[in-house]
Amino acid sequence: MTAPRPSLARVLRPLAGACLLATCAMVVGAVDPGGSALAAGVQLRPQAAGGRLAGLKKEAAADVDSMRELSQQMVDQIFSFAELGYQEVETSAYLTRLLEKNGFRIERDTAGIPTGWIATWGSGRPVIALGSDIDDIPQASQKPGVAYHDPIVAGAPGHGEGHNSGMPLQVTAALAVKKIMEREHLSGTLKLWPGVAEELGGGKAYFVRAGAFKDVDICLFAHVGNNFNVSWGARVGTGVISVEYLFKGEAAHAAANPWRGRSALDAVELMNIGWNFRREHLRLSQRSHYVITNGGDQPNVVPANASVWYYFREIDYAHIKELRGIGDTMARAAAMMTNTEVTWRVTGAAWPQHFNRVVAETTYENIKSVGLPNWSQDDIRLATAIQKELGQAPQGLLTEISRLQGPVPLENNLGGGSDDIGDVSWTVPTVTLNYPANIPGLPGHHWANAVSMATPIAHKGVTAGAKVIAMTALDFLARPELVQQAWDYFKNVQTKTQAYAPLLDPADQPLVTTNARTMEQFRPAMRQFYFDAAKYKTYLEQLGITYPTVR
Ligand SMILES: [Zn+2]
Repeated sequence: MTAPRPSLARVLRPLAGACLLATCAMVVGAVDPGGSALAAGVQLRPQAAGGRLAGLKKEAAADVDSMRELSQQMVDQIFSFAELGYQEVETSAYLTRLLEKNGFRIERDTAGIPTGWIATWGSGRPVIALGSDIDDIPQASQKPGVAYHDPIVAGAPGHGEGHNSGMPLQVTAALAVKKIMEREHLSGTLKLWPGVAEELGGGKAYFVRAGAFKDVDICLFAHVGNNFNVSWGARVGTGVISVEYLFKGEAAHAAANPWRGRSALDAVELMNIGWNFRREHLRLSQRSHYVITNGGDQPNVVPANASVWYYFREIDYAHIKELRGIGDTMARAAAMMTNTEVTWRVTGAAWPQHFNRVVAETTYENIKSVGLPNWSQDDIRLATAIQKELGQAPQGLLTEISRLQGPVPLENNLGGGSDDIGDVSWTVPTVTLNYPANIPGLPGHHWANAVSMATPIAHKGVTAGAKVIAMTALDFLARPELVQQAWDYFKNVQTKTQAYAPLLDPADQPLVTTNARTMEQFRPAMRQFYFDAAKYKTYLEQLGITYPTVR
């Protein structure tokens, strides 16, 4: 980490500790036990405070710039770990080590998830939570900077979504904010936390249930995108409940005594057939899909055990519950048809997302002042080449930030993906900042989405995103009325007619062994390609990749 730039620090120092936290604690009504400046109760006139805040934000942005190399190393390191949901062992060890070294206190095993943790620094209010996902996608291994399919380890998981970039962004932002808070004696607490097993809806609802956000005032979440984007109100997309149905029948010799057997696989197939007929008569907004997680062992043994794993997605709580109910009925009916038994387990859940207006508007102002990165000719060549490779319009990279997006009425929500940040967004005022670290026109959950994720495109996007988060965090640290307004929206608009009720039952536990076998299979080969920051400047250099490599 770099020392604060002396000239700027000197300019600001005469004002240190004067005002920001004092007003903050008074309005929010919190007391910082260690805050001497707070006790003094010194306040600055609003205009003066505004000018000072602008100066602090400028300083934070410059500091984020000065940490570019650290951000790049984190992005490359986590890209090379490439761990699936619940198996983010190396990623979590690396991040917590780094945060511990920087004075954060680590709580581990959050919500009973071994790769879950919360890193805390500071004291008093407001408490600002900074989070991002860390898991990746099966079979998405891909060499960065190469515009055609070329895996690092064939068949291995890879960051084919870009979740290697979000925590590096948040850590960079937190370090910049922490430096200013320390020097200015600002009251406030930073809490960094990882989105574990996001692709399984397997982290945040359990974090919420375990009380991880109980003292949080504001949550700034970050998720990779191909542009800067922030929205408020109900978002296009769905919530999800993930259920695995486990059928149990009776084994028998499939040729000699087939009448003695009862096939659990038959039940799985009948359930799926039933579901696919029913699909035509479901609402347009639903999304549902399944994979067969166990289809039996070999053809000459009637499968005694078989299982199928469903995602039931809908645009509101009631319809998610209803859709899942239809699934349970199908499973029972399939069991009856085959004279087998069925049990099921919930393996994850996510609420539809609703973001906070005040937090979104505050974030958007900072997006406007940071702007998109300057893409180089090489960045654009890589983007254009992968777009062509996939038969898409060669539009390159985006150069204009998107507009601040408002609520989407339910009747206009035609469904789409889910993100378990939904559960957090119904617990505390939250937004997701999408930042430009990926390439437009790609399919998502695909090796192609990994192509940019350890290249200058991702590095620049993370630096830009870290500036926005740092500046927004400073807004909430320095302007207590904003925290209050955010809660006013949360209480009097967002949750006025809709209260949060978990999609999880109290007995549902995170299935933390998911993906263990896949990681065991691939980790030895992947380990040889872990990024070695002591030896190489970048991962591209370590892999000997010319940037960009295009056909
Ligand atoms: Zn994601």
